[in-house]
Amino acid sequence: MPVRTCRGCGRKASRATLLRFVLVEGCLVEDQQAVLTGRGIYCCNDPVCRARLAKSKKIGNRTEPMR
Ligand SMILES: [Zn+2]
Repeated sequence: MPVRTCRGCGRKASRATLLRFVLVEGCLVEDQQAVLTGRGIYCCNDPVCRARLAKSKKIGNRTEPMR
């Protein structure tokens, strides 16, 4: 099982347990069907992590450097 890192809290978890998001034209989109192409960003299925991710990504601002 591939392991991914949550961008909200930094915890490592199996890919199946994390939500996948993709940046589409600078906006963070949840990839529920795993059909979007592009750079995947993973996050726990947890409101706290999702809120942190949304904050850290500054949705809509694609010039923000990645951490
Ligand atoms: Zn997390």
